[in-house]
Amino acid sequence: MELRQDFVNQLPGAYSLVEPEGLDNPRWLMWSQDAAHMLNLAEPDANALAVFSGNARMQDASYYAQVYAGHQFGGYSPRLGDGRAMILGEAKDIHGEFWDIALKGAGKTPYSRHGDGKAVLRSAVREFLASEALYHLGIPTTRALAVVGSDTPVWRETQETGAITVRLARSHIRFGHFEYITHGEQDRGRLRELVNFTIAHHFPHLEANASGYKAWFAEVVRLTAEMIAHWQASGFAHGVMNTDNMSILGDTFDFGPFSFLDTYQEGFICNHSDPHGRYAFDQQPGIGLWNLQRLAQALVPLIPSDDLMAGLNGYQQALVDKYLQLMRNRLGIVAADEGTDLALVGGLMKLMKNNHLDYTNSMRAFAGFEPGAMEFALRDECRDTAEFDDWFSAYRDRVNGVADAGDWQRQRAAANPKYILRNYLAQQAIEAAEAGDNQPLETLYQLLRNPFDEQADMAQYARRPPDWGEGLICSCSS
Ligand code: AMP
Ligand code: MG
Ligand code: MG
Repeated sequence: MELRQDFVNQLPGAYSLVEPEGLDNPRWLMWSQDAAHMLNLAEPDANALAVFSGNARMQDASYYAQVYAGHQFGGYSPRLGDGRAMILGEAKDIHGEFWDIALKGAGKTPYSRHGDGKAVLRSAVREFLASEALYHLGIPTTRALAVVGSDTPVWRETQETGAITVRLARSHIRFGHFEYITHGEQDRGRLRELVNFTIAHHFPHLEANASGYKAWFAEVVRLTAEMIAHWQASGFAHGVMNTDNMSILGDTFDFGPFSFLDTYQEGFICNHSDPHGRYAFDQQPGIGLWNLQRLAQALVPLIPSDDLMAGLNGYQQALVDKYLQLMRNRLGIVAADEGTDLALVGGLMKLMKNNHLDYTNSMRAFAGFEPGAMEFALRDECRDTAEFDDWFSAYRDRVNGVADAGDWQRQRAAANPKYILRNYLAQQAIEAAEAGDNQPLETLYQLLRNPFDEQADMAQYARRPPDWGEGLICSCSS
């Protein structure tokens, strides 16, 4: 693997050089065949294990930690930075695109503050599973190449073991990078350098001039809106939408206490440390806009306010358009009608809420519906059948005249996953891995590589959680 070092070479002052702290007795816990294939890497070998456990250093690579700021739960933190992640450089994939290779959990950096720079097995595994699961669902996301486990003791609420996630990101540039320069360094030249770097590397169809800047911000707004539309359509709650966790490319970024919905609950809060639900499931669209407003504020020295306002004004429509496109595809609606479709989707969510239905399984039921039929399995799940019948008659009107029902059903199966990363499944697999058995983890990972396929003998993974696992949420500690 050869690494480019554009960030290090072109943005001096935006990072600190660091050295990794190796793990004791490292071993592979997870390996993403798909990510490895993309990077043209061979099977996991001893060399790779030495590098990705932080025990050996890649020759000629400048390991670095980036500095940034961020709004955390609404309050501004002027100096954050990579406290437990270091980037090795940028690797070219088989399509000619570059990916930052990062070790998350490889020890202290100048930005670790009181933290140890380490990650524990459960958080490393959750990041791996979630990013690969989102990728296979077609949701924009950072990726994971591997998880390395170890015997290194790491203290959280109890003693755990250290692990490293090898994260791949097209960029690690966050909204918080721009905030750091504007509110901290107050250096317009450096702000321009960072924006120009971002455009040159990630928006190469745009020019680094006034009209390019305006178009760039509008694209960041659109990409962010589309990412959140994907989250809302797939029932994904991120959990910590601080501006330092918002990728400038609109990729889902920094996996902590995230959760997919089991039972549909619009106000679901997946983060223990968020009692007021700032980042509740149904708050995500509004928070996305709030975060973009913080980004816009950070860009004021470089981009005229009118241009920034014009960009922000595109947010809501971009989000609704993408959300409806995804939901129409899930429901099998061909001809778009924004008002009718929003009402129809809203009605379905209300049915799910009133009947405590499982979000993923309810949506998957559409793959078994036959357009034109008077029967639909979802009716049996509803206590108030009159409410269901009202909704159903409106829905039937939107999907009549389908020529080939089998084809229509196959398309619904390809749009509504059977398997998602349910928190209780992740939890079970993590507990087994902590006890030394990696097989459940591997089985779960392989399952999530093909979330839309029925997969023989795997139906139990599509079940609703048992009582102990319903609404299971994770603490932020990582
Ligand atoms: P997060 O909540 O994961 O987005 O982290 C917020 C900030 O805290 C980031 O700057 C992290 O790098 C830092 N951080 C989180 N955990 C640790 C840790 N164990 N050691 C050092 N820094 C950490
Ligand atoms: Mg973070
Ligand atoms: Mg995190």
